Amino acid sequence: MPKVLRLILGDQLNEKHSWFSKVQDDVMYCMMELKQETGYVRHHIQKIMAFFDAMRNFSCILEERGHQVKYIKISDSSSNKSFGDNLNQLITKYNIERFEYMLPDEYRLDMQLSEYCKGLNITSSAFDTEHFMCTREQLKEFFATRKTYILEAFYRDIRRRHDILMDDGEPMGGKWNYDHQNRESLKRGEQLEELELADRNLESLFKEIKDSGIEYIGRVEAEKFKWISRRDEGLEWLDYWLDKGLPKFGKYQDAMHNEYKFLFHSRLSFLLNAKLISPKEIVERTLEHWDKNKHIEIASVEGFVRQIIGWREYMRGIYWAHMPNYSSLNFFNHRRNLPAWFWTGQTKMNCMHHAISQSLDDAYAHHIQRLMVTGNFALLAGVNPDEIDAWYLGIYIDAIEWVEITNTRGMSQFADGGIVGTKPYVSSAAYIHKMSNYCSDCHYNHKEKTGERACPFNSMYWRFYELNRDKLAKNPRISMMYRTWDKMDDAKKQAYLDQAESYLELIEEL
Ligand code: FAD
Ligand code: SF4
Repeated sequence: MPKVLRLILGDQLNEKHSWFSKVQDDVMYCMMELKQETGYVRHHIQKIMAFFDAMRNFSCILEERGHQVKYIKISDSSSNKSFGDNLNQLITKYNIERFEYMLPDEYRLDMQLSEYCKGLNITSSAFDTEHFMCTREQLKEFFATRKTYILEAFYRDIRRRHDILMDDGEPMGGKWNYDHQNRESLKRGEQLEELELADRNLESLFKEIKDSGIEYIGRVEAEKFKWISRRDEGLEWLDYWLDKGLPKFGKYQDAMHNEYKFLFHSRLSFLLNAKLISPKEIVERTLEHWDKNKHIEIASVEGFVRQIIGWREYMRGIYWAHMPNYSSLNFFNHRRNLPAWFWTGQTKMNCMHHAISQSLDDAYAHHIQRLMVTGNFALLAGVNPDEIDAWYLGIYIDAIEWVEITNTRGMSQFADGGIVGTKPYVSSAAYIHKMSNYCSDCHYNHKEKTGERACPFNSMYWRFYELNRDKLAKNPRISMMYRTWDKMDDAKKQAYLDQAESYLELIEEL
């Protein structure tokens, strides 16, 4: 009979965890597909399916290895109850003497479970997920001792500590960071082969989710489900991607194209965030692959490694250093509602149309689409960060609050006033035109600042700076923009501001 009950959350699918190293008769695991988890924002159907499919497969693997698992499916009546109620029921039914869980990465669940344990009359304890490069304690140490955080310092520290891309204590190749080599757009007419993920038929899971009445967003072809939710298939995909995608990853990391949605991005974020594959494993395989394929440029390898062990871990550090306050920061006091076309993609702005439609079709957009297209527009328009967060948290396959909110509210919206970034990521059409081919078949003209066909990004860009002068003008990374703005004659400035206002008044029609 089990004496210990261990909870595994949907994003804790780390089969290498020490919990599973031996089968214990007195331990029972439990996993739950709960409406409380699908309902706190409206999620993309593919995100819900990927998590449930991954969880179900994980529980089968545990059972095959001899572990005892209690699994609550979304179609079971218990899916309407909270974690606490379901846990209480199991504890009573099996006379459990001890409750254990892995530390949640989300503040909300962390609070919920630690409160739950306080009310228990049996012993309990929490365990590290053994997934990240840094434990929560190590993060606390690093972030608590600093007034400002810089990714570069954090990243170098991890590289040194784990001896990654190091050569006798020095960064391999002589430089820590090759980012400046990673900014090419695709050449005109360049033909690419979009890397395809194998598909699976998840029709019955889709039906079960629909029948359980969950509200969702987005579209899915359930019989041709594209996302990988199994570790073995994920590792196969990683090897394939290292071969085909990594060589061009760095160079085209920031590029966007109306025909290629994924370009050379790895699509590993779901596998990572569900903890099916660890960052350490990814980095080790990458470096092994590079060792055998030295023609791959160091810029690609370093750029990729920096995302995995740098940005990803750094965002987690920011999250734990600043929650719960972080989730209500609104530096610019933005209050506008998210335009309705964010939920349909029906806008004449071609870049926004592509980034949003793709997100609804695939639960995916790559980093620059999220940052410099949708995020950029929302910031220039002054949309309330709460609404932007809910959109990003719901729509993306990889969105879990610790990594979503720091990227959205922090990096993209500067709503944290500069905790993550040193300046807001905003641009006019010039950047989008340089990095993509979206502008060539857009209703709007990327060169025009005013007039009926002027690109909305252009006038809204200057309006944003003018409106936020008191908050931004002293920032040394921005002062040049103010000098350019101040040199324009008043009539021109006024025309830009009027244009932006008229667009914003009719934002639903853009
Ligand atoms: P690749 O481009 O192939 O990068 C490799 C890996 O590096 C990713 O899988 C990811 O794990 C990691 N990575 C890269 N950039 C970041 C970053 N800025 N922060 C954390 N990890 C990073 N990432 C999420 O995992 N979940 C989110 O909810 C999320 N929301 C975002 C919201 C906004 C507004 C922005 C600008 C970025 C967001 N990101 C988020 C970061 C990044 O866009 C995604 O990790 C990436 O697009 C996932 O696709 P990929 O696996 O093909 O990534
Ligand atoms: Fe986007 Fe403006 Fe280019 Fe159109 S012209 S695609 S709205 S940047």
